[in-house]
Amino acid sequence: MKRFKIKVDPAVCTGCMRCMLACSWVHSKRFSLSGAMIMVDASGAECSITFADGCIQCGSCADACFYGALAKQAPEEVMP
Ligand code: SF4
Ligand code: SF4
Repeated sequence: MKRFKIKVDPAVCTGCMRCMLACSWVHSKRFSLSGAMIMVDASGAECSITFADGCIQCGSCADACFYGALAKQAPEEVMP
């Protein structure tokens, strides 16, 4: 599997939570904000985006972000 470092730009995050829903689908095949390994806090003037230790760097959150707040960096090939 490929792993991606995720580059974050909170300044353009809209707080749409698509990334969180995409991540929860990866982990549990359910759409659930509580099941995501990426956390978006949109309560402040600028969104805060953090990752939990359970993030497997799959890149699905970045694929789901329409606004450029998440971007996949060069993949690293790793053993399955
Ligand atoms: S890269 Fe991490 S936070 Fe993003 S979808 Fe994959 S497991 Fe979730
Ligand atoms: S990082 Fe992207 S997908 Fe996630 S809440 Fe912000 S704009 Fe939406």
